[in-house]
Amino acid sequence: MKTIAILGSTGSIGTQTLEIVRENPDLQVAGLAAGSNVALMEKQAREFKPRLVSMQSESAAKDLAQRLADTDIEVMHGMEGLLRIAQMPEMEMLVTAIVGMIGIRPTIAAIKAHKDIALANKETLVTAGHIIMPLAAREGVAILPVDSEHSAIFQSLQGQKRESVSKLLITASGGPFRGRTRKELEGVQLEDALKHPNWSMGHKITVDSATLVNKGLEVMEARWLFDVGLDDIEVVVHPQSIIHSMVEYADGGIIAQLGMPDMKLPIQYALFYPDRRPMNGKRVNFYELGSITFEKPDVETFTGLKLAMRAAREGGSMPTVFNAANEKAVSLFLQKKIRFLEIMDIIEMCMDAHKRIDEPGVEEILGAEQEAYEHILAKY
Ligand code: NDP
Repeated sequence: MKTIAILGSTGSIGTQTLEIVRENPDLQVAGLAAGSNVALMEKQAREFKPRLVSMQSESAAKDLAQRLADTDIEVMHGMEGLLRIAQMPEMEMLVTAIVGMIGIRPTIAAIKAHKDIALANKETLVTAGHIIMPLAAREGVAILPVDSEHSAIFQSLQGQKRESVSKLLITASGGPFRGRTRKELEGVQLEDALKHPNWSMGHKITVDSATLVNKGLEVMEARWLFDVGLDDIEVVVHPQSIIHSMVEYADGGIIAQLGMPDMKLPIQYALFYPDRRPMNGKRVNFYELGSITFEKPDVETFTGLKLAMRAAREGGSMPTVFNAANEKAVSLFLQKKIRFLEIMDIIEMCMDAHKRIDEPGVEEILGAEQEAYEHILAKY
């Protein structure tokens, strides 16, 4: 029996993790946390019977507590709830499927409590990789990637010596606007940006795929997870999303992980690593697929990736500003308050205005996040 807890259980990764729990009776859930979706949390709590659940706001928690009054489930809210769940004594692995930098503190708390981490929340490593990775190493805690690209790299590294890695090749679908010019992107609508060609994901990450910001975040995440230099990470556009990423070795050999674009595989791999459990679902049919293709990313049109590389090279607090500015800009875009291309303009504006801090601590990271938000709110 393995006991897990999930932060962000009502989201795309969270609900898919619970599908895996449903299919594997030797998994049990100790704690669940979500933002505002009380109705779904009630359903999840009744089905998976965690000991503790938490909602973002006090009012959502009150509503949930009333709905669960006939159960023994404890209901908390806010950061206190996230931190309690992250450290539950009976829990062995924390799935960080929450969106945003709010994931940093609970992840640190879980590592200090010696809980393995199935990490989906990429913002944690992007902004605090310099804190998280050394801490996990010191505490002997495994950080298992859930992101499909990082899982593919992790799978491609199994049985190999780290010294013989020459580069990581991160694949990208190119998003719904691949091949379009900047001019053509001027009038694109939210509905177009939300139509990802291959993957079904939460709204924020789907928009991030369209700007290539997501790929930039993944490069930064990969750098921390696999301890490689930025020059040893290459992004390759592969529109069919069948190769989920690859590792090139010193002898020129390349090991890749392939599969259908379905997040359940990387989630399940992280939950049961190093075992591979059976899983239902569509398989790759190479005859039907016919061909797979590759392109260089167009970083002049989709400047999200270019700005991410700049943030990664400048380091310190700059990846936080990149990430925070993107979060706020995407939220404005989702509210239809700005146009698609303005997302990238806003990120650049915030990065230009920021005075970089070297090796920022958690408070400084959260301060840089706040500064970027305020900078945007003053103008939009
Ligand atoms: P979603 O937006 O679908 O879900 C986010 C989850 O976080 C929801 O359960 C939401 O609750 C919860 N949440 C948000 N704010 C808070 C808060 N303050 N306190 C507690 N819970 C909160 O996101 P995804 O599942 O798509 O993504 C989650 C993370 O995984 C992101 O970092 C993303 O980059 C990463 N990721 C996602 C992939 C995907 O395929 N979706 C692939 C790889 C990485 P509620 O809905 O109740 O408000």
